[in-house]
Amino acid sequence: MKVIVIGCTHAGTAAVKNIATLYKDASITVYEKNDNVSFLSCGIALYVGGVAKDANKMFYSSPEELKALGVKMNMKHEVLEVDSEQKKIIAKDLVTGEVKVDHYDKLVMSTGSWPVIPPIDGINLENILLCKNFHQANIIIEKAKGAKNITVIGAGYIGVELVEAFQLDGKNVTLIDGEERILNKYLDQEFTDIVEAEFTRRHIELALSQTVTKFEGENGKVAKVITTKEEIATDLVILCVGFKPNTGLLKGKVEMLDNGAIVVDEFLQTSDPNIYAAGDSCAVYYNPLGKHMYIPLATNAVRMGTIVGHNIMEPKVKYLGTQGTSGLHIYDLNMASTGLTELTAKQAGIAYQTVDVIENNRPEFMPTYEEVKLKLVYEEASRKILGAQIISKADMTQTINTLSVCIQKEVTIDELGFIDFFFQPHFNKPWNILNQAGLSALV
Ligand SMILES: Cc1cc2nc3c(=O)[nH]c(=O)nc-3n(C[C@H](O)[C@H](O)[C@H](O)COP(=O)(O)OP(=O)(O)OC[C@H]3O[C@@H](n4cnc5c(N)ncnc54)[C@H](O)[C@@H]3O)c2cc1C
Repeated sequence: MKVIVIGCTHAGTAAVKNIATLYKDASITVYEKNDNVSFLSCGIALYVGGVAKDANKMFYSSPEELKALGVKMNMKHEVLEVDSEQKKIIAKDLVTGEVKVDHYDKLVMSTGSWPVIPPIDGINLENILLCKNFHQANIIIEKAKGAKNITVIGAGYIGVELVEAFQLDGKNVTLIDGEERILNKYLDQEFTDIVEAEFTRRHIELALSQTVTKFEGENGKVAKVITTKEEIATDLVILCVGFKPNTGLLKGKVEMLDNGAIVVDEFLQTSDPNIYAAGDSCAVYYNPLGKHMYIPLATNAVRMGTIVGHNIMEPKVKYLGTQGTSGLHIYDLNMASTGLTELTAKQAGIAYQTVDVIENNRPEFMPTYEEVKLKLVYEEASRKILGAQIISKADMTQTINTLSVCIQKEVTIDELGFIDFFFQPHFNKPWNILNQAGLSALV
C-alpha cells in the first residue's frame, strides 16, 4: 500500500506517525512545500512577545524523526496537481525546479489553510504581514523591532494575542475590526467588555465597527491605514482576518463546502474513497448545530490526522465531531468557550435559555480567591447544554473542557446540577460552579 501525504504540519504529522507505527508495511511519502514540519503557530504571539524564548521548542517533530520511521520525506516540494482518476500527483522540487510524478493507493490531504488576504488597495505594500508559519513569525519579530506604531487587523483570538504581545513590548497598538466587539465569535458581550476594558486601560486603540478601505505608503512601505471611520499612522500591519482552506488541488474532485473546505465522513474519507483529508483543509462536524462547518483549530487537526492514520487501511475509528472548544490568556485574564454563545444560538434561530453564575473560585476563608463569571446556553425544549463561556483571573478554563464533554454527550442543564464533582477548599466550593449553573436553571 503506497500512501502519499500532502502537507505535514499538524494533521499531516499525526497521520504520518500513526500510519508508520500502525502499518509497518505501508510505504509513506510526504510532500511538504515548507522546510519544517509540526510548527506550533499557537506559540507565535508568545514568541513575538518574548515569553517563548527558544523557537526550536515550537516544533514537536522533524523531517529526521519521520525519516527514522521509514517515511520518504520530500521537503520543499510543492504538489501542483492531483489526478484522482489516475491516482497520481505532480510535484515540483522548489530548490531544483525539477517536476516529478508519483502514484498513490491512498492520498492524505493535509494541506491546511492560508490567511485570507482581502483585496484592499495598497495591500502589497511592504510591512503588511501575515501570521501563520515559522518564517512569517520571524519576519514579524524582525520588522517589529523598528516599529513604533503597529496595527493589527482582525480581532479574533490571533489578533488579540498579538495586540497583547506588542503592547507589552512597548508599541503603540491599534486593533481594527469590522464588528462592534472583539472576539465576538467566541464570547458574548459581557465577557468581551471585560477584555476590551483591559485593552483600553493599557492604551490600546480599539478601532471597531470599521473596515479598512485603503493602505497608503511612503517609499513602498505602509505608512497609513485608511478605514471607513479614520486614518491611522502605522509602521507595521499584521493581517489576521481569518483563514481559507488550501484545497485548490482537489477542486471539483471531492465534495466541499462553499468556502472550499473538504467534506469528510465520520471515518474522514472524502467523497473519493481513495482520498482522506484532515485538519484545516476540512470542514468539521459541529455537534451543537449538527452540521459541517469550517472551524480551523490545531486540536481538530491532530485528532483528525490521528484518525486518518488508524483508518487508512479500513474504516475503524470514528471522528466524534467538535464543539470548537478554545481557550485564551490575555494579561491576567483566563477565558475559554465551547459550543454556542448566546449570539451564535440566536443567529442559528435556536430557542435557547441562558444561565449566568458569578461566584468566587474558592471559599472566602482562603487567603486568596478570584471572581469567576460563567455563562451557559441550553436549548429551551430539550434543555440540552449547547455552549458555555468562562472568564476569571483564576484559571478555571478546564471547566469548559468538562462542558465540551457535556455538549458532546447531550447532557441537560438539569443533570448538570447533580453531577458528581469533588470539593476541596484549595480548588473550589462545596457546590462546584457547574453544579451551581445547573441548579440555578432548575424549574
Ligand atoms: C497565530 C496562530 C495561532 C493559533 N493558535 C491556535 C491555538 O491556540 N489553538 C488551536 O487549536 N489552534 C490554533 N491555531 C490554528 C492551528 O495552527 C491550525 O488549525 C493548524 O495549524 C492546522 O494544522 P494543519 O496541519 O491542518 O494545517 P497547516 O498548519 O495549515 O499546515 C498545512 C501544511 O501543508 C503544506 N502545504 C499546503 N499546500 C501544499 C502543497 N500543495 N504541497 C505541499 N505542501 C503543501 C503547508 O506548507 C503546511 O505545512 C493558530 C493558528 C495561528 C496562525
